[in-house]
Amino acid sequence: MGRMSLVVPGAAIALSVLATDARGLTIELDFSQDTSGFFSNADAKAAMEAAAQDLSDAILTPLGATVDTNTASFGVGSASFNFEYNYTHPSNGTDQVFDPAVLPANTVKVFVGAQTLGGTILGQGGPGGAGVRPGFGASAAQLQQQINDVTEAWNQAHTAATANIRRGGGPVMTNLSGTVSDTGGNISLDYDLDFGPALGNVWFDDDTNWHFDHTTAVADNHFDFYSVALHELLHAVGIGLGQSWNDLVSPGDSKDWLGSEVLALLGDGDDILEADSAHIAEGTQSLNINGVLQEVVMDPTLTDGTRKYLTELDLAFLTDIGWTVAAIPEPSTFLALAGASCLLLGRRRAA
Ligand SMILES: [Zn+2]
Repeated sequence: MGRMSLVVPGAAIALSVLATDARGLTIELDFSQDTSGFFSNADAKAAMEAAAQDLSDAILTPLGATVDTNTASFGVGSASFNFEYNYTHPSNGTDQVFDPAVLPANTVKVFVGAQTLGGTILGQGGPGGAGVRPGFGASAAQLQQQINDVTEAWNQAHTAATANIRRGGGPVMTNLSGTVSDTGGNISLDYDLDFGPALGNVWFDDDTNWHFDHTTAVADNHFDFYSVALHELLHAVGIGLGQSWNDLVSPGDSKDWLGSEVLALLGDGDDILEADSAHIAEGTQSLNINGVLQEVVMDPTLTDGTRKYLTELDLAFLTDIGWTVAAIPEPSTFLALAGASCLLLGRRRAA
């Protein structure tokens, strides 16, 4: 047997909703690792769930269910691809393994929690990582027959694994590729696997002056939790992170975007990204649900006393990386922003 293990760690830039709408994605929140009890605050949990529902409603892409292992046998040969996912514990930052790598159709599972974050950071979020253990074997036979049969079994298992882990749509979050050889060096087989969306991990600062209730106007000097939750969930589904995102950042300028939907909306993609290539440029405005110009959700900061809803530009970025999105959906709770204005007393970073 040739066996190896490859693991791509969960991204460090760093959100249970019931499937009430069968047409699209379900962002399933997992609160089981909220060990500090941050979400025992009912308003915090409700705002988190509203953000997940609003993003779920915006994404129509169907995703296949995943299985943990793909195997095939041919003649004297056999091959298998055994998968795992991984993520960062949202309350203590430790690496966590999610194995067996089994998810239901149309589901991205996001682990949520809180920590004390430094400086002005409000929250962090990103997609989880993935790993694969490819293996092959052959029972005693002529070497050439072993090679032929193992190769055929490998190709069959690889085809099944490719379809399984890609999930049939959405962005490519990561790719794992390589070669597996037997100890004698007689057989060398390649694999190249694109991983679709699967897990996410998001966490929030536990000593920010939060405004938790997403159904009321944001109080002065308070930071709107719904807005930060929405921002971090967008990271978890591939905004700012992952292969599909990275492929569309201009290789010549980290602030330029190459995706066609954004270009169609803005005319060009020049300087639309922050220098970190993981956010939309600071202060960028776009039309939100109310048809009102609003700072995009995915710029790097949130102003106290304000709330953000998904905007056309946020959705254009989602489209560019491979999601099929709905027209801007109604948020869970419509709230007119007029009357919620206040002095801009400071801006805090939402990583
Ligand atoms: Zn961010």
